Amino acid sequence: MSVSGAIERTRSLPRIAHVRAFTVRGGGADYHDQGDGHWIDDHIATPMSRYPEYRQSRQSFGINVLGTLVVELEADDGTIGFAVTTGGEPACYIVEKHLSRFLVGRSPAEYEKIWDQMYFSTQYYGRKGVVLNAISGVDLAIWDLLGKLRDEPVYHMLGGAVRDELQFYATGARPDLAKEMGFIGGKLPLHHGPAEGLEGMEKNIALLSDMRAKCGDDFWLMYDCWMSLDLDYATRLAHRAWDECGLKWIEEALSPDDYWGYAALKKAAPPGLLVTTGEHEATRWGFRMLMDMECCDIIQPDVGWCGGVTELIKIANYADSRGVMMVPHGSSVYSYHFVITRHNSPFAEFLMMHPGPTEVVPMFAPQLLGEPVPVNGHIRASELDRAGFGVELNREIALQRPYSNS
Ligand SMILES: [Mg+2]
Repeated sequence: MSVSGAIERTRSLPRIAHVRAFTVRGGGADYHDQGDGHWIDDHIATPMSRYPEYRQSRQSFGINVLGTLVVELEADDGTIGFAVTTGGEPACYIVEKHLSRFLVGRSPAEYEKIWDQMYFSTQYYGRKGVVLNAISGVDLAIWDLLGKLRDEPVYHMLGGAVRDELQFYATGARPDLAKEMGFIGGKLPLHHGPAEGLEGMEKNIALLSDMRAKCGDDFWLMYDCWMSLDLDYATRLAHRAWDECGLKWIEEALSPDDYWGYAALKKAAPPGLLVTTGEHEATRWGFRMLMDMECCDIIQPDVGWCGGVTELIKIANYADSRGVMMVPHGSSVYSYHFVITRHNSPFAEFLMMHPGPTEVVPMFAPQLLGEPVPVNGHIRASELDRAGFGVELNREIALQRPYSNS
């Protein structure tokens, strides 16, 4: 094909004709929206744990209040690209009433300019949080549509696989079972925060010791602290967990706004113990703060919250140049198509969404059809060889469209 032919083919790509934003309840991308008895809502330490009435359940303070956002983009040839993230009805409003103006009539090949327009037009009320979830959802739907129009997997468009397979660690309450299932490590939720005092600290260490005894010395064990600690508690936990249990990393110990605290924790933590964070950070500017202030060893952007693939390219490149690992939070297929293309993303996270969790189930079930799951802790790159992100929206779920843009 001639150069001008390739240019012409890109120029003549179908345009985005329709933008639709739906919300849906019951797990999926809003993976905290689960029924009773799920490990993910069993007395997990949070910043709200200082209030006894919000200590037992994260749903009690509203962790599942938003629900899932589904963004669907239909091109003028009828091809549909879509993505799911969290954000629910407020994000639907932003997509339909604000962001759709930058999409209708445009080519999905213009993702860079579209991202810039979405971000800077919302900057006066956006920058992080639900607005960036909405922008991420649109951006991922654009990449999915572009891949479907070009009949190309997203990871091909990002430069191709740098290894033959993804390897995973498992997040959930049963690292001992995760080891049997072939994962390289297990990340536990921390159950007790500073408000539960020394007794809570002992319980945190006892659970980790128990898992170390069950999993043996070579299996990675990590603690996810979900923003619940202060610097003093995090430093003490890091030292005890390293000395007594060989903890691999301490994750998101402090508020995402406390860059100074993270920098101090990184300095105070035992050499060899990794400090990780970034799940609730967004954009190149937020991650630049984490890296320039030397806050952590691994950044963990959620692909559906940090700004989408277009922004993650910038975040990951900066991390690579600084020698920082970039291992996305959860994010299912949106993460897999990125991680497989990067040397500074040597493994990936798998959220164990079975209530036990005693078996591997698709992370964003029941919303995606064709969502790959790890077998023996691995997914082969060839399993991603489907156009776009390689999944379809499950039309059997109760999608609601609260707003429209016409
Ligand atoms: Mg986490």
